[in-house]
Amino acid sequence: MRSQPRMRPPDGAEPGSVLDHVDTPALLVDLDVLDANIATMASFAAETGVSLRPHAKAHKCAEVARKQIAAGAVGICCQKLSEAEALVAAGLDDVLVTNELVGPAKIRRLVELARHATVAACVDDPRNVAELAAAAHGGDVVLALLVEVDIGDGRCGAPPGEAVVALADTIESSPGLRFAGLHAYRGGIQHVRSAAERRDAAHAADERARIAREALAARGIRCDRVTGGGTGTFPFDAELGVHDEIQPGSYVFMDADYARNEPASTAPAFAQSLFVWSTVMSAPSSDRVVLDAGTKSLPPDSGPPTIPGWPNLEYRSAGDEHGVVVVPPGSAAPSLGEKLALVPGHCDPTVNLYDWLVCVRDRVVVDVWPVVGRGASY
Ligand SMILES: *Cc1c(COP(=O)(O)O)cnc(C)c1O
Repeated sequence: MRSQPRMRPPDGAEPGSVLDHVDTPALLVDLDVLDANIATMASFAAETGVSLRPHAKAHKCAEVARKQIAAGAVGICCQKLSEAEALVAAGLDDVLVTNELVGPAKIRRLVELARHATVAACVDDPRNVAELAAAAHGGDVVLALLVEVDIGDGRCGAPPGEAVVALADTIESSPGLRFAGLHAYRGGIQHVRSAAERRDAAHAADERARIAREALAARGIRCDRVTGGGTGTFPFDAELGVHDEIQPGSYVFMDADYARNEPASTAPAFAQSLFVWSTVMSAPSSDRVVLDAGTKSLPPDSGPPTIPGWPNLEYRSAGDEHGVVVVPPGSAAPSLGEKLALVPGHCDPTVNLYDWLVCVRDRVVVDVWPVVGRGASY
């Protein structure tokens, strides 16, 4: 399957080493917080009676996935086939690819992956179903497919109703294919700030999933599961009873963007476990310091990082490899060579920039885990 050359772990990232000796930029995970986040989500799912299938695009790391499975997750989600291949190669055995896979190259790889693990993928077009049916038949495997429903994002997905029924029906009647349920996820509402507005938006989206589910039932097509829901909406998706399975991903790490969401009163709280470790490499004047982490260490798509412990400082990126931090008049500033732990704006693309997660407990390195799905975008 997939292999790629890796950079070696950062200097000082050996188990037993104190955090201050870890060179920068490096990606740190506080394992006590990570473990607590994983346990909290697992308890929520168990108490609510929904299955938990965490989205592994957030961490791309087999060790994190194994912790999630050990805590009760039924499997994992991946967004890309290469991500699924990397995690199956690392020993994970139940993966839902929450995306459409189109064209002979990808379908050949999906058929191959289905020989090694329980895999499923999404469809929203009869031409893709026909292509998958031919490959499964020729490849002598049964491919599990979920019909993706457009529940309001205006992205992929068939509209709820007849189009969904027709796709499910075609899958059911194709040898080599198995209809494995509905995929109903709406990414665009995960960061609606007000909890009440996010709940309303999730319920409106879930109503479209309910219509699709009922249309299948009316035609006598059995639907084993409706799956969807992220860190922003999972409590609302779970409370309606339309979803049997939730797919939150970011909750393991959290990030500055999720920290701006008003938490749901009915949901458990998650804490920040992921940090970019960075050094003050220049302190040229009293109004600023410059960190060695710019946009190549901290993707800016969801805003700048925050700096815990330094509430007066404001990170303002100056470029690919420089992070300029503004020091207001009269405020204390970190000194040259000092290391700071930054909370990334968006955890998923941040993880994708690092080969290693440096795991710490109480500011001591305890492990270093490869990000096996790093760069797996194909
Ligand atoms: C990203 C994603 C998730 C998880 O979203 P988070 O906000 O990271 O919790 C779940 N399902 C699908 C299909 C996704 O693309």
